[in-house]
Amino acid sequence: MSEDPKNKRLFGTNGIRGIPNEDLTPEFCMMIGKAIGTFFNGKIVIGSDNRLSGDMIINAVNSGILSTGSETVMIGVLPTPAIQYYCKKHALPGVMITASHNPPQFNGIKCIDSDGTELERTKEEKIEEIYYSKTFNVSTWNNIARSFHDNSGFDLYVNGVMNMINVTKIRERRFRVAVDTGNGAAYLTTPELLSRLGATVVTLNANPDGLFTSRESEPKPANLKYLIDLVRSGGFDFGIAHDGDADRAVFIDSEGNFIDGDKTLTLFVKYYIKKGEKVVTPVSSSDALEEVCKKEGATVIRTKVGAPIVSRTMIQEKARLGGEENGGIIYGDHQYCRDGAMSLGIIMDIMAKEHKDLKTLIDTLPQFYITRKTIPAKSDFSSLVERLKNEYAEWEISLMDGIKLRNGHDWILARPSGTEPIIRLFTHSSDLKRSEKLSHDVENLAKP
Ligand code: MG
Repeated sequence: MSEDPKNKRLFGTNGIRGIPNEDLTPEFCMMIGKAIGTFFNGKIVIGSDNRLSGDMIINAVNSGILSTGSETVMIGVLPTPAIQYYCKKHALPGVMITASHNPPQFNGIKCIDSDGTELERTKEEKIEEIYYSKTFNVSTWNNIARSFHDNSGFDLYVNGVMNMINVTKIRERRFRVAVDTGNGAAYLTTPELLSRLGATVVTLNANPDGLFTSRESEPKPANLKYLIDLVRSGGFDFGIAHDGDADRAVFIDSEGNFIDGDKTLTLFVKYYIKKGEKVVTPVSSSDALEEVCKKEGATVIRTKVGAPIVSRTMIQEKARLGGEENGGIIYGDHQYCRDGAMSLGIIMDIMAKEHKDLKTLIDTLPQFYITRKTIPAKSDFSSLVERLKNEYAEWEISLMDGIKLRNGHDWILARPSGTEPIIRLFTHSSDLKRSEKLSHDVENLAKP
């Protein structure tokens, strides 16, 4: 990566992602550390998930930062939202070493602003500028900064989540919960949070082995077979699973049904929204949010896909609630980022308050279905757009992100992925078969 042509973009939609010792070499990580230290020019927090390459990258980034005279606070292995919460509470910028749900060979470097949100693109550009122009701060020997350790991030985070919910009511329910942390960074925080909430906890894959040996890190039904079987075997109120850095959480009801992230988001909005408020969500989540908000006199603001865009828009629009359909809930009263443990707290809070099980709560939501597929990159996106426009000529068009075509509650969203050479396809309907048929039809249309 250090040999890339001048001014090539380094930070993608999810920070700098790559394979250690190929893209993320120690030399590159040290240089990017120098750029980050120069840019923030003050104390910087460093935290990571539990990937095997974490130590190598952290040490290189840390060395680069210290050379510029900026101190570092090492807060250890924690979920991404716990690192963001630490930054917010201490009003310090930070660096996260994580590749979220990507396969184990990847890792990444992502910057956090001192309000706990992902760094804005304009600020990332400044870091890239410093990196390419090599205009680093260089400290004299007696001004080189020191690095300190702080282990308080764990308690700060777990207590922070507990402060947002009705702990007494939740403890009274004596929940039984099955947790699959997928060998990821929530291996301590989520089981501990549940214990403090009076739950009986059974964990799966709660060993942080850094190789994701038990299952792939993406919390989708195909990867959660064991959790689903365990919950289905009986005796659990629900199951929960995270991705590798635990900013996302998905749930399994007591009968072993996987609950689509879109439904969890709708449930959160339904019970937390107040009259006249705004909810922020990308074009990819279902119409259920509009239905729920209409009833409460609230409005929905749609954005492009991407959690940082949703967070930023929430701050601009003074919206407390937001999130994505992939299991990413953003609760602004807590912090403006996706947060897996906060999602868990919210779901337990609603279940306790309503004295209902998860399936009953989900069944009362407006019923919409989203079918998700990926189309290989060899299908040219612009030709797919033309074909869609012809095939669905009568449908309403929106070009906010990719192309979205709508006819009543039936819609099609196709957008090129920001991180992989694929087209992401979402089809939506109030009827599951219809949504699946739309998906199938568009897939055929995309064939060369
Ligand atoms: Mg993640």
